[in-house]
Amino acid sequence: MKVLVTGGTGYIGSHTSVELVSQGFDLVIIDNLSNSKIEVLDGIEAITGIRPKFEKLDLCQAEPLDDFFKKNSNIDAIIHFAAYKAVGESVENPIKYYHNNLVSLLNLLEAMRKYQVPFMVFSSSCTVYGEARELPVTENSPVQPAESPYGNTKQIAEEILQEFVNSQDKIHAVALRYFNPIGAHPSSHIGELPIGEPENLVPYITQTGIGLRDQLKIFGNDYETPDGTAVRDYLHVVDLAKAHVATLKRLLNQQNKKPYEVFNLGMGKGVSVLEMIQSFNRVSGKTLNYKVVDRRHGDIEKIWADTSLATKELGWKTESSLDEAMKTAWDWEKQLNKNQS
Ligand code: UDP
Repeated sequence: MKVLVTGGTGYIGSHTSVELVSQGFDLVIIDNLSNSKIEVLDGIEAITGIRPKFEKLDLCQAEPLDDFFKKNSNIDAIIHFAAYKAVGESVENPIKYYHNNLVSLLNLLEAMRKYQVPFMVFSSSCTVYGEARELPVTENSPVQPAESPYGNTKQIAEEILQEFVNSQDKIHAVALRYFNPIGAHPSSHIGELPIGEPENLVPYITQTGIGLRDQLKIFGNDYETPDGTAVRDYLHVVDLAKAHVATLKRLLNQQNKKPYEVFNLGMGKGVSVLEMIQSFNRVSGKTLNYKVVDRRHGDIEKIWADTSLATKELGWKTESSLDEAMKTAWDWEKQLNKNQS
């Protein structure tokens, strides 16, 4: 089975590529390398023994993409990760986000139609739920107005995908709503590679732990949560990667119940920022330096997933504990630092 992975050198894309190659899928990765490095292919090869085919290509450019599909007419499915994802940047430059995240999707869908690629797995996000009124959120929880242009691109993309699938007889798709992926491959050959100052919590924690940053800033401790800090549903990126393989098999084996489906992917547990710091302290043997500052604009108070649908339909659930996932993040940070020094 030949699978096109867009954004395959990115954080979740690279971990998913490893799982796909390990399961015998024939991969071709497209990435424009705007937020990832070509050396990630070395990491995938070091883990799997196989170097996936790679095309440096910008999905916003329809003609080169069309040429790609002409050359690769035997693609069975697409896993579409490629997108910008920095919430703060999307607020400052919304057009960049709408343009990149939506034009790339439209071009891919057009190619799917033209070349009759039957399946797509799409990277969506729990941001579509906003500040949910009831927790945990199920796939039927209401989608709420997005807090950022980034979040809005995910909502709009889900709508476009659903309408597209409804208009086609032979194209089926699944949107996977990720909660907060963390950690790295246990081999430390691949992991998260934030460019500049990380926006996300775990890379900020590990960079502080290794000494690249002075102090973690906790964005608010006056939330209505047990310890006052915000609560999220963190899951190991390798578990998340495995969910993509399960989803792909469901589509390829025609086990999907509807042409368009949605699944929540999380651990199903709410964890606070302070609990994340405690986890880091446990696995690293360090005491993280932090201070509490004002809330971050656009942050929600708490969210975690009801993952029972994914368990029932995909036969998937997370295997790594929070500490196991955190340990892989810390091992990866140490490995990165060793390479740079
Ligand atoms: N957070 C924090 N300090 C940081 C980065 C994040 O306190 O330097 C908090 C953030 O306010 C949120 C949680 O950590 O409550 C997860 O943030 P992240 O950006 O990783 O993911 P989000 O859920 O916002 O997409």
